[in-house]
Amino acid sequence: MTRVFNFSAGPAALPESVLRQAADEMLDWHGSGMSVMEMSHRGREFISIHAEAESLLRELLAVPAGYKVLFLQGGALGENAFIPMNLLRGKTSIDFVNTGEWSKKSIKEARKYARANVVASAAETGFDRVPARDTWQLDPDAAYVHICSNETIGGVEYHWTPDTAGVPLVADMSSNLLSRPVDVSKYALIYGGAQKNIGPAGLTIVIVREDLLGQALPITPSVFDFKEQADNDSMLNTPPTYAIYMAGLVFNWIKAQGGLVAMEAHNRQKAALLYDFLDASKFFSSPVARADRSLMNVPFKLRDESLDAEFLKGAQARGMLQLKGHRSVGGMRASIYNAMPIEGVQALVAYLKEFEARHG
Ligand code: PMP
Repeated sequence: MTRVFNFSAGPAALPESVLRQAADEMLDWHGSGMSVMEMSHRGREFISIHAEAESLLRELLAVPAGYKVLFLQGGALGENAFIPMNLLRGKTSIDFVNTGEWSKKSIKEARKYARANVVASAAETGFDRVPARDTWQLDPDAAYVHICSNETIGGVEYHWTPDTAGVPLVADMSSNLLSRPVDVSKYALIYGGAQKNIGPAGLTIVIVREDLLGQALPITPSVFDFKEQADNDSMLNTPPTYAIYMAGLVFNWIKAQGGLVAMEAHNRQKAALLYDFLDASKFFSSPVARADRSLMNVPFKLRDESLDAEFLKGAQARGMLQLKGHRSVGGMRASIYNAMPIEGVQALVAYLKEFEARHG
């Protein structure tokens, strides 16, 4: 068996020890005589798996009292509709900060339900940064302010938490949740799909301040009504059971690594290796403003894009996959989530050096 270094943006690499544990438990989970996939979600075994996953997530993020943790389906794109449905609370507009492709998707979807005001945008500079807070034109009457804490395609990340002067702050953390500690108390709602730092696709996480719930639009589907799901421990209907089990294994792995403080240190070390090389290189470059560079998704360009295909072929031959940038921006992108070992980044940097020596 050969495992590759998988730089995919998501679904993404998972810790090898987690995959091994899942394999060991595949046919018989803890003497139950069945796979987690085969268990009733209402049975004692699965309820314990679900409860442990939630409690580990609360512990890792130090989720304060007064917040609900929901394990849902529908993906982050689904949340772009469900969050307005749940959080408009009689208001008519939402403020958005536009930092790139995923912000744009959130804005587009919200427009079906409310007025979406773009209060700051990095469009003018090609989405290479987070607009400075003092340029945001916030509306005190907005239902909430929406940000994307890490633009998976553009590689732009917030390294600070915006102060929104009392207006609830909502963050799409799909691609950086659990990569570092977060002060959950500063947010009204945090959401993300699981398929980057958390587990397999199919699970969507919502962490929401309880006092905002209970005023969903009447058209809100019951399974996406956060209050109904919160009242039913996210089990109004059948939850994505296997994905929740896998997420629980990943949460345990993160805890064993030293929690989110250790994750951040590891992620900073990996990202620095790559960015330091890109900044010193005359052949490769990073398009993102230094202060706002993502620790998770590192887009980079070759000086001569006619060599892109050769670059990718050579990477593949060396066991490094999924380095092609998103089709909307081109170039390359290395996604280096929690589960990417430092050896993967070292191998990538060694290959970048070799390629530059040959073509630079
Ligand atoms: N937001 C961000 C920041 C993402 O990276 C993604 C997926 N790559 C999405 C939203 C959409 O997530 P999903 O495919 O789970 O709907």
